[in-house]
Amino acid sequence: MSPLLSTADLLQFMTLIRDSRHVAICGHRGPDGDAMGSALAWSAYLQGLGKQVSVVMPTPPPDFLRWLPGSKQVVIYQDNPTLTASIMAEADLICCLDFNALSRLQDLQHLVAASKAKRLIIDHHLNPDTEGISFLVSRPQMCSTCEVIFRLIHQLGGFDDMTPQTATCIYTGMMTDTGGFTYNSNDPEVYEIISLLLTKGIDKDRIYRQVFHVFSIDRLRLQGFILSEKLQFFEKGRASVFTLTREEMKRFRYVRGDLEGFVNLPLQVRGLSLSISLREDTEKDVIRCSLRSVGSFPCNKMAEQFFHGGGHLNASGGELPFPLEEALKTAERAIEAFRDLL
Ligand code: 5GP
Ligand code: MN
Repeated sequence: MSPLLSTADLLQFMTLIRDSRHVAICGHRGPDGDAMGSALAWSAYLQGLGKQVSVVMPTPPPDFLRWLPGSKQVVIYQDNPTLTASIMAEADLICCLDFNALSRLQDLQHLVAASKAKRLIIDHHLNPDTEGISFLVSRPQMCSTCEVIFRLIHQLGGFDDMTPQTATCIYTGMMTDTGGFTYNSNDPEVYEIISLLLTKGIDKDRIYRQVFHVFSIDRLRLQGFILSEKLQFFEKGRASVFTLTREEMKRFRYVRGDLEGFVNLPLQVRGLSLSISLREDTEKDVIRCSLRSVGSFPCNKMAEQFFHGGGHLNASGGELPFPLEEALKTAERAIEAFRDLL
């Protein structure tokens, strides 16, 4: 496996770790399998070095990730602001995993920005914001932050001591960020890593079922409702949009995570390049926007220009501060503006 860090960087990184005692690890709002998996794996590694480690997420993970080993110890800022504040105040190192800009921490960003701790980023998103950062490990070509974390632990000599629990966390993030290895996963070394993880005794088939096959009947019916009643197509079937109101979510007894993956469904249509989902946020008065594409269509450019967001080429998101009908008009304008790339 090719090394993640140059020798000089490795030495600098090791010094940073050696000089820290209280480490806080955070991931982005609405933590997904990659944010949770990488944070828990990195936490386990640092704990093995004798560090005092806390994992903090701005908001809770979806129910289908609660089984991840260690997830019960994760502090949720939204539920525990006081505890979070003391963790951030005590930390001498804050590791920002799976996000490229503090704004993705929402309200938690202020505590992180105010902390005197050194800060490092370990991530695979484009264009990391390096202001105030002591060390950056940014690998946009990698499938997931979990892949970056694996390589890091491996290079630091921590593979032999890696537990099956940690291997499970890493595999989960690699699997979820690649849609079960159906995109962003052509690098042969990804499979070298998987084979090393399998030597730890992980049950990858079970992990798949625990993440992808644990939906409620309500969720399945919500999926049917969206596909039959809400999905609209544009530009001769090359783009699609669906919207979802809070009222509709309530009707299908929505719980956090129920919408995960729906935005990918329209990509199953032949010739479709772009899928957009627009839904009323359940906590704030904003519209959460998700964009997915196949091929070279740049979701991130569209998200930056039209949805106050960003992300990867094929998966981006953003937020619009106005009603759903207007958000739909924005999406239509965005599709119109990008029609030549569809
Ligand atoms: P999702 O559609 O799953 O919420 O987000 C997909 C990807 O888009 C994320 O992994 C992240 O890279 C990016 N993304 C989502 N929401 C935002 C946002 O509000 N701002 C930025 N800059 N990127 C976002
Ligand atoms: Mn990720």
